[in-house]
Amino acid sequence: MSDPFFQPVSGFDLPRYAGVPTFMRLPHVGLDDARLAKVDVGLIGVPWDSGTTNRPGPRHGPRQLRDMSTMMRAENGATGIRPFEAMNCADLGDVPPNPADIQDSMSRITAFYHKVRAAGVRPLTAGGDHLTSLPVLRALAADSPLGMVHFDSHTDLFHSYFGGTMYTHGTPFRRAVEEGLLDPKRVVQIGIRGSTYDREDREFAKFVGIRVIPIEEFHARGVEEVMSEARDIVGTAPTYISYDIDFIDPAFAPGTGTPEIGGPTSFQAIKVVRELGGCHIVGADLVEVSPPFDASGGTAYLGATILFELLCVMAGGMVRSS
Ligand code: MN
Ligand code: MN
Repeated sequence: MSDPFFQPVSGFDLPRYAGVPTFMRLPHVGLDDARLAKVDVGLIGVPWDSGTTNRPGPRHGPRQLRDMSTMMRAENGATGIRPFEAMNCADLGDVPPNPADIQDSMSRITAFYHKVRAAGVRPLTAGGDHLTSLPVLRALAADSPLGMVHFDSHTDLFHSYFGGTMYTHGTPFRRAVEEGLLDPKRVVQIGIRGSTYDREDREFAKFVGIRVIPIEEFHARGVEEVMSEARDIVGTAPTYISYDIDFIDPAFAPGTGTPEIGGPTSFQAIKVVRELGGCHIVGADLVEVSPPFDASGGTAYLGATILFELLCVMAGGMVRSS
């Protein structure tokens, strides 16, 4: 049983629409709080979308995801996992970005995650656009490259935009491979689809050995088979999970900047996370939820559910004695 301090507020005690909305109704523990050392998984908001090249809005994601995450209860109804009993979880707050300066924002994010990592906390990030993953990986992979399971409509492996701009939400994993943060042979990208500018991103993937699983193959083979291959690719070495909400079909997740049709259902969206059991997850993120395009709030609700499923799979096998 985890420390009682780290239990979320139950809807049996306080209605779920009441109170200050932290992630999953967990306690807020700042980076300077002595209790940080007791946290196993820290939920972190990165309200930043300066890497967005078309329709902006994910800077508003963390606040909306916090609100919708109050819908999550203590137990995963399908798997029986009770993540808040298996681990000490807390909301570590938001990384304060500089919306007018990409490099400064990335420095701030990396510095924040260095502190999180030094405290022995595994981060679960709510973005933010997908460029968020790069400064996070700079901290988590500072010593050695990580494997990655990446759910997305897009590879985010492009070289540059607008004639030489290197840092956008379409380039984070190109930079991460170049910087030695990812071991490309242990990277799998699932759900890739849509119209494209050209094949430059996929040629790069092929050149460095990244496995790309297009949506046609995903639908043809099914969740279990695809995820079995994904687990084989990352193996048991340290692995990062990056989940772009636009992986999911826009019928279920329209509230995002770059939706692509023909994607997985909301059920498949949570199934793929459950299939990550056994992976050595050192951190995860859920990015690209864009409240201005999320008229019903349903995209943020699905995003919050995915964050909960990620917490459950990170808790799998963990049993705390105190
Ligand atoms: Mn992406
Ligand atoms: Mn995408």
